[in-house]
Amino acid sequence: MKVKQIKRRTFLKMAAAAGAISILPIHFSLREFSRAAENSPIKRIPTLCNGCSNMCGMYVYVKNGRIWKTEGHPIHMKSRGRICARGHGMVIDVYNPDRVTQPMKRIGEMEFEPISWEQAFKEIGEKLNSVIEQYGGDSFVWMEHGVRGKHYADILLEFLGSPNYITHYATCFTSKTNVWPKMVGTNLYGDHENTKYMLFVGRNFAGGIIPNGMNQIVKAKEKGAKLVVVDPRHCELAILADEWIPIRPGTDLAFFLAIANTLITERLYDRQFVANYVEGFDEFWQANKLCTPEWAEEITDVPADKIRQTARDMAKAAPRAFLETGYHGLNAHYINSVQQAQMNVVINALLGNMFKKGGLLPSAEITLGSLDVEKPPEKEKGPRVDGAGEAGKYATVEAGRGIPQLVPQLVDEGKVKALFIYHYNPLRTGPDPEYQKKMKKADLVVSIPIDWNETSLYVADYILPESYFLERTERPLLCHGHITHPYPQVAWRQKVIEPVHDTRPLLDILKGIAAEIGAMEYFDFTVEQEAAAMIEPLGISLDRLKDAGCLEFPASVEEGMPKIRGNPALRTPSGKVEFSVGIYKVNGFSGVPRWIPPKVNPVHEDEFRLIHGKQPWHSHHVTSNNPYLMAITEDYNGTWIWMNRSRAEKLGIKNGDLITIESEKAKKQINVKVTELLHPDCVWVPSAYGGFSKKARTAYGVGLNYNDFLPAMVEPIAGSVMGQEVIVKVRKGGV
Ligand code: SF4
Repeated sequence: MKVKQIKRRTFLKMAAAAGAISILPIHFSLREFSRAAENSPIKRIPTLCNGCSNMCGMYVYVKNGRIWKTEGHPIHMKSRGRICARGHGMVIDVYNPDRVTQPMKRIGEMEFEPISWEQAFKEIGEKLNSVIEQYGGDSFVWMEHGVRGKHYADILLEFLGSPNYITHYATCFTSKTNVWPKMVGTNLYGDHENTKYMLFVGRNFAGGIIPNGMNQIVKAKEKGAKLVVVDPRHCELAILADEWIPIRPGTDLAFFLAIANTLITERLYDRQFVANYVEGFDEFWQANKLCTPEWAEEITDVPADKIRQTARDMAKAAPRAFLETGYHGLNAHYINSVQQAQMNVVINALLGNMFKKGGLLPSAEITLGSLDVEKPPEKEKGPRVDGAGEAGKYATVEAGRGIPQLVPQLVDEGKVKALFIYHYNPLRTGPDPEYQKKMKKADLVVSIPIDWNETSLYVADYILPESYFLERTERPLLCHGHITHPYPQVAWRQKVIEPVHDTRPLLDILKGIAAEIGAMEYFDFTVEQEAAAMIEPLGISLDRLKDAGCLEFPASVEEGMPKIRGNPALRTPSGKVEFSVGIYKVNGFSGVPRWIPPKVNPVHEDEFRLIHGKQPWHSHHVTSNNPYLMAITEDYNGTWIWMNRSRAEKLGIKNGDLITIESEKAKKQINVKVTELLHPDCVWVPSAYGGFSKKARTAYGVGLNYNDFLPAMVEPIAGSVMGQEVIVKVRKGGV
């Protein structure tokens, strides 16, 4: 561990008593600041956190033009008055000395020179024009973390004639968003607060925290609900659970098949729901009759009696019982992740819990308007360069998500020539950083980050720094996902302070480039104009949304399956829940979920599956350059890899020892935490560490990154990275 600057207790004291002092930049005079602050009023401004995809509502207090403190927004459905440690810690990164402070141009292997925005726009515009002229629009790719930039990226992509919009979701929940719309026609979420039984498999709500989600679980438990956690690791959520069932990693699918088998053979399933609202039950049952708990015990290492009891307990509580619908942990890690997601639908349908209180409910919806602006003329586009959604390639992968792990190879093959990478760091979050570095070969790579992340440092020709989330205003958002809330909400990220450095919001960055490539007329609007147009159908004023930050509307979620004239009316071909997905029947796959073993397995005494997960105070790598959150890491030996005690003893390894981890891709050292709280077949590493950008000084060289060990692979149906299909060899001592 090399993080030494701030101890957690100090951080907490500073945050509580003198938040403003703790965020002062190095060059700032404390005396001057105190004097100026004495008589300044404190302003409280509502905005949205950017610490993770929850985008919780928060109030930020500003005094004398500087961030003073923050707290959870009381209305926003994700925060309900609380934000997590990440949210508290992250606000101070606005003053982090490792931010990119103005546009940069590469002048050497690891060297950059600061340039003006005007020069950056001019040179990027010229290079982009030249690439498009020479190689066509299809040679341009826009990559980003999520969909925050999509609205503006779509304008640029249309203007250039490129279909290539790609997100990071292949490393996250891509199987879930592929499966649920096809089987159920929509996504559904657990009604935690009103349930009697929650089964969490491969999801750690207390690691990837949703503040109000945890609140809802605690309330349900106070009312007597049972919480069961199935996970190879005794994760943070397991601390709250009535029962922790350690499972062999990669075998959740077999566990699910055996749960379904018990529900069906013991006639515990909701037969009326299945008769009325399920299509393909017989096909599923014929394919999986033999998947008994005894069969699953061999595969999962979970006793058959335990599987049976879990199924019986759930059925008893149904329909106020659910199998949580999963996220990163259940949907991107294995060759069988799509079938896991399918089984998630099957089990919940067998419980008859869909559209029911205490079971699964849809998101509350409300329709927003849009700004009427000129759109680029539609251009004929070639096929997507990554093959997502293309017949004969990755036909079933969602084109709206894409396959980011193919991009380095596509650059290497000369199929991608220009690349914009927005709010995304594939060199840290994608498999095999050395392979990711191939992106540098493109004729033009533009990174739009906040800080000196690895992707910017190693592969970007130009770095265009975006303003921090507290320094920019964005389009309003509907609040939904992960948890249920019956009332639709609209929330707005607003600028809280003026930019500390010479940075710009994404819309202004794209305007600058658009002006150079002749596309300015399509970006001729402001974010305030967009916001006003979006909320216009809601009958509220922009001033009201500005003051409140988050507004709630009358309930839109009703219990009961959607019906039209008495017939099931889900947005699926039959209107029912479809257990068989016809378009999955390619390359030997079945339309119904069937057992598929993991792609790789540990065999020898020194071999383990490498698995990973979030810690409650980090958002994967996003927060690892934050000195305050890294101080918590130091207090808890947070970078150590976990190993089961019985396996460690066989290798002569003791708690705290330095060990060497090796796969075909990397060989690294790390200290080990020896524990009973992990399945013997795996080692577990937190996902926050292993930074290798020397300009992100707090994160640099701390801990391990699981991606260093992982080869770039593509799961054939949803396109995920299969992030845990990797076996490592472990031995005591350094290299
Ligand atoms: S869960 Fe935490 S990090 Fe994520 S948006 Fe909410 S407060 Fe921010």
